[in-house]
Amino acid sequence: MADSIVLVLNSGSSSLKFSLFDLGKQQELMNGLADRLGQNDDEAALSWKFEGVKDKQTIAGADQAKALETLLQLLENKGFASRLSAVGHRVVHGGEYFYDSVLVDDLVLDKIKRCNDLAPLHNPANVLGIEQMQKLFPGLPQIAVFDTAFHQTMPKEAYLYALPYELYREHGVRRYGFHGTSHKYVAQQAVKQLGLNPSQHGIVTAHLGNGCSATSVLNGHSIDTTMGMTPLEGLVMGTRSGDLDPSLHQFLAQRLNIGIDEITDMLNKKSGLLGVSELSNDMRSLCDAAEEGNEQAELAVQLFCYRLAKSICALAMPLGKLDALVFTGGIGENAVRVRELTLNNLKILGFELDTEQNGKHGSDNNGVITSDSSTCAVVIATAEEWAIAQDTARLIGE
Ligand code: ADP
Repeated sequence: MADSIVLVLNSGSSSLKFSLFDLGKQQELMNGLADRLGQNDDEAALSWKFEGVKDKQTIAGADQAKALETLLQLLENKGFASRLSAVGHRVVHGGEYFYDSVLVDDLVLDKIKRCNDLAPLHNPANVLGIEQMQKLFPGLPQIAVFDTAFHQTMPKEAYLYALPYELYREHGVRRYGFHGTSHKYVAQQAVKQLGLNPSQHGIVTAHLGNGCSATSVLNGHSIDTTMGMTPLEGLVMGTRSGDLDPSLHQFLAQRLNIGIDEITDMLNKKSGLLGVSELSNDMRSLCDAAEEGNEQAELAVQLFCYRLAKSICALAMPLGKLDALVFTGGIGENAVRVRELTLNNLKILGFELDTEQNGKHGSDNNGVITSDSSTCAVVIATAEEWAIAQDTARLIGE
């Protein structure tokens, strides 16, 4: 661990995020982003922050492979490339193959590819990222860390849809859940920070970013979550509808004379906060607009919090006893009003909001936001990249 440097990569089709961690010193050395990839324009660029200074390099017309080559050059220039111990890759879908993070070999890569159908927008790009790094750093351990793995402990009654069983058996149609790295990390932090019994606790974690999901964590294991076979199910999100009536596709197809692809696009990209507010998918903008009297922005915020509270109630059910509710993600950590509205909707679970503490706590200042209530709510900043780096270190034995 003395000089163990781990690169964490999140490879998408049009963007690439990276972080570099010194595990010995437990600190992030550098992070950055390559965006506008694969779009044949001159705007693609790699930007990064190192020792507090931001810098940028344009990589005109770059695709993901070119962006990774540019990243390698950057790491060489800074003297980190030769010191890398491993690369940790965020992989969105691990299907039923992966219960934990794993050292990538040919068999693992083949299984990840078999999950491409389940996450066609994400997994192929994740696979390309792994293959490219294998070429650039032959022999360096590559670790895959899955968004779905934490939820593989869900019992069958939680993950099965009430559909013909054959669809599950033959085609893998079931609920998988996502954001697993974040839910696991903040649940572990909650146990530590609140002094809960590591082998006997019930927690609901609410990861609220552009995508949103909440999870029941019983004694360290996910036993239910709001996202399903895809990240569209569950809570209201920035542009995603979350749960709705499965008959809607047929109604919309007939009424609007549009096809399945167009409807799916609407549910993923034009719904949620954006759809209801007709203003923005961004919670901060909506809270500001609501305060200035925009009624539709206010409605979107209220609807978001109502549905969130309703799902939290449902997720508390299989826990038996709820010790804590964790708010995390950009909205969970920063949107004071969202926490207030949500907890006010949750008096049935014994929450008593401490308005002063709620106003104080945020990304840089985690803490409890309830007063003498029987159940505690807490803000804990997520650290998905750090969690991936730690899993990577565990798998290479450091
Ligand atoms: P991602 O899922 O892309 O990682 P984030 O976790 O960064 O997204 O969350 C982005 C969301 O957090 C946006 O809706 C943004 O408006 C919201 N957010 C960030 N800061 C605040 C704030 N101070 N008040 C309200 N919402 C905020």
